[in-house]
Amino acid sequence: MIAVSEILEKQELSRQDIIRLLSITDKGDQELLIKKAYSIKESTIGRKVYLRGLIEFSNYCRKNCYYCGIRSGNNKVARYSLSDDEILQVVEFAQKNQLKGIVLQSGELSSLDFTERITELITKIKNATNPEFRITLSLGEQSLETYQRWFDAGAQRYLLRIETSSEDLYKKIHPADGLHSFKVRLKCLENIQKAGYMTGTGVMIGLPFQTIENLTDDLLFIKERDIDMVGMGPYLEHADTPLYDHKDLLMPLMERFNLSIRMIAVLRIMMPDINIASTTALQSIVPLGRELGLKAGANVMMPNITPLKYRRSYLLYDNKPCIDEEADDCLDCLEKRIKMIGEEIVRNEYGDSKHFINRIQID
Ligand code: SAM
Ligand code: SF4
Repeated sequence: MIAVSEILEKQELSRQDIIRLLSITDKGDQELLIKKAYSIKESTIGRKVYLRGLIEFSNYCRKNCYYCGIRSGNNKVARYSLSDDEILQVVEFAQKNQLKGIVLQSGELSSLDFTERITELITKIKNATNPEFRITLSLGEQSLETYQRWFDAGAQRYLLRIETSSEDLYKKIHPADGLHSFKVRLKCLENIQKAGYMTGTGVMIGLPFQTIENLTDDLLFIKERDIDMVGMGPYLEHADTPLYDHKDLLMPLMERFNLSIRMIAVLRIMMPDINIASTTALQSIVPLGRELGLKAGANVMMPNITPLKYRRSYLLYDNKPCIDEEADDCLDCLEKRIKMIGEEIVRNEYGDSKHFINRIQID
């Protein structure tokens, strides 16, 4: 078997190399991998962390993904939707705290009213902020026309996780009801790029039925599709979802955590100039999980700035962290923790993906 140190010397990783790196079990080998990824991050991006304020503004969703706590079939969830004024107050909070942008996330809705509402909301946010303030959307699958309208209204970034690049696995974790199609999701990702967005995708790690080969193909997919930003993290079970029935197939939480860390590190080596988020799901397993994500090559964090009273109703998985803290507390403790690991929160840059800037220049 080829040594990890030897693989890390290579300019280009083969599929076999990626499988080998994701399969690491030796602690020393994992440290070597993380060190390599961090040195690449340091030389391309620096010891920097970009923050985006995450606003989970509504949990209404028409979809029924088998893994998600706010799926439409979960009747135990109290549904909510923030008003435009409430969202604008949160935007004001973000600006006061020198955040250079926000992420607007919700369940998936698809209607003319929704398209219209979001278009107006983007315009209101643009009017309340300086023109450079970045708006990222994470509102699921929409038509090309809708993506284009929102982009033209002023949103610059869009996040749509492919969840898995394996169509077979996709079918196992979504209902076959005509609303959940792998091909449609793929097409949506292409349309997001076409509309001009800085494009983000990602996958869940440690799903039941998922193999190391699936995850390897996920990383290759992200590279082939020329993705600018990635958010990927461990799958975490929610007791009121159908996928919970397969919890016996899951690897232990710490294994899921370490595999997620290796996914981040390998991706950083494969794509030195993209933005990679260190996700909240990492923090659910290990209290300093997001900081360890940064040490493995991630460079973005999305502190939750949703008003406290709504947080308990946006539980995608059990034991979600930061649901009892006011947004300021979260930001405060984040700052201290990031300093502790020798990284710096960048307050005077927008933190656009360098990959996007290079991609646009080449086009
Ligand atoms: N509805 C939009 C969509 O699906 O693209 C955006 C919101 S959705 C809650 C955001 C992401 O949450 C999904 O893409 C999925 O990867 C993640 N998610 C949902 N349930 C999860 C779980 N049980 N464990 C980890 N991540 C989960
Ligand atoms: Fe809805 Fe997104 Fe959850 Fe699927 S993952 S049920 S689309 S909120």
